[in-house]
Amino acid sequence: MLASSLRTARPRTSAAHLLSRRSLLATTSRGGYAVQFQHARFHNHASSQSTIEVKPGATTGYTSQTINTPRSSPRSTADTAVLAKLPTPSLFRNLLIQNISSYPRLLTVLLGMLKRYTTFFITAPVFKHVLHQAFYAHYCAGATIPEITRTVRGLQQLGYKGVILNYAKEVDMHAAGQANEAERQKVHEEQVGQWLEGTLKTIEGADGAFAAIKFSGAGLGVVHMLEENREVPDEIFGKALTKMCEAAKARGVKLLIDAEHASQQKAIDKWTMDLMEKYNKGSDLVVYNTYQMYLKASSQVLAEQLQLAENRNFNFGAKLVRGAYLGSDPRHLIHDTKSETDTAYDTAAHMLGTYHERKPGSQTHVAIVLATHNANSANLMRTLRAEQQARGLRPAEAVYGQLMGMADELSLSLTTADEKRGFRAGDCDVYKYVTWGTTAECVLYLVRRAEENRDAVGGARGVRGLFWDELKRRFGLKKAASSAA
Ligand SMILES: Cc1cc2nc3c(=O)[nH]c(=O)nc-3n(C[C@H](O)[C@H](O)[C@H](O)COP(=O)(O)OP(=O)(O)OC[C@H]3O[C@@H](n4cnc5c(N)ncnc54)[C@H](O)[C@@H]3O)c2cc1C
Repeated sequence: MLASSLRTARPRTSAAHLLSRRSLLATTSRGGYAVQFQHARFHNHASSQSTIEVKPGATTGYTSQTINTPRSSPRSTADTAVLAKLPTPSLFRNLLIQNISSYPRLLTVLLGMLKRYTTFFITAPVFKHVLHQAFYAHYCAGATIPEITRTVRGLQQLGYKGVILNYAKEVDMHAAGQANEAERQKVHEEQVGQWLEGTLKTIEGADGAFAAIKFSGAGLGVVHMLEENREVPDEIFGKALTKMCEAAKARGVKLLIDAEHASQQKAIDKWTMDLMEKYNKGSDLVVYNTYQMYLKASSQVLAEQLQLAENRNFNFGAKLVRGAYLGSDPRHLIHDTKSETDTAYDTAAHMLGTYHERKPGSQTHVAIVLATHNANSANLMRTLRAEQQARGLRPAEAVYGQLMGMADELSLSLTTADEKRGFRAGDCDVYKYVTWGTTAECVLYLVRRAEENRDAVGGARGVRGLFWDELKRRFGLKKAASSAA
């Protein structure tokens, strides 16, 4: 499975020429090296940069690196041309959602009502229809395997490789109530059983790509074990994890274990590394851990876990995110500024993406999922991979993950050639993260997406302009962009 996903190096002289001006590789006095990315080609903020020096790492060979990272986080550097691929209904839905999101107060009221009167909204015919057509169809894959498969095929026709599939249904956390120990154990067993059933269907629907797995979704019993920082899960959840991994392995699906609240993360890390050791052997790479790079500790944790993989000869799967719990996790654990988070993210991506260059003899194979809507981070990895190919090296095994219904302009730009930057079409594997389940099961997910859109709307104004321009072009109100592919 792994061998087939490895790409052969294809040197490209023109890219080498272009990239030699873009990145600079130099040996440092400590035997490591320093890398400076020139961001100027990706955005207009080259003058606002932050620089961090990553302290000499434990033993991963990543001794010293300086990366200049811009303070801003542009959603995309795409132009209207890439949106030409998007179906018209999707274009309309994007604009509808972006426009509603530009009235944050109205949206807050609407979301409040949706959360409070969920049953009414998902049963009253008119509201149900609007919810389904405008929002569910935009963010969700469907409720059955045939519907999910149709969504996957539609995404593949747009140029995406596949999906990161997530099951929307959340276990009822109140079910355990005040029950005695025996009753609690019974509820725990039932909840883990429900979670496993949903997880196995997710693996089936993922169609050989990725399944997103949230441990805390398996109910209160599992949440308690995570909060207690248990070294290993109990027998019930342990068996469920084994079944999940065996099913994923049999179907060629990769499991992305979500990063969650800081209070649960130590146990998630431990359980996930144990699964990696068991299922990422030889040519297999089934399990990926997630690293929230906004946490001050994450650079070190990542280096240590990579080192463990190297010491014990198993393959290392890493999904890199910035982190979603800024509002709820202890603030002191998180980098003080967005700029520091950006730098930590890009440094981690570069460290993983160059592992095979630093450790050519290592048995550990590193695979990365760059889960981000940040165009700078995505383009830095694209540049690194093009540069590696230009140098006749195997490019880092990195793929990209963005939410379905969001950041389409970035996702589509990654699937498109960009001659000015020396990027060829097909050099990026982009996966869309998509949730499946009935409308009722997906409501909470839809609310979260709407809240995210509302919070991001300030930075999304430029993107909205792109969608308007493409709509006008499609209806003959505007000339096609000259660069249209
Ligand atoms: C496919 C996919 C899977 C994901 N899985 C997970 C997961 O398992 N666990 C998880 O926690 N999140 C997950 N996320 C969400 C992710 O962590 C981010 O919240 C989200 O993607 C926004 O970050 P960004 O890199 O896309 O973009 P950006 O807009 O560049 O970054 C926004 C992020 O920067 C950070 N940030 C913002 N302000 C500050 C500040 N003042 N100081 C420090 N940091 C700051 C926050 O993390 C914020 O979310 C996932 C996202 C995607 C696309």
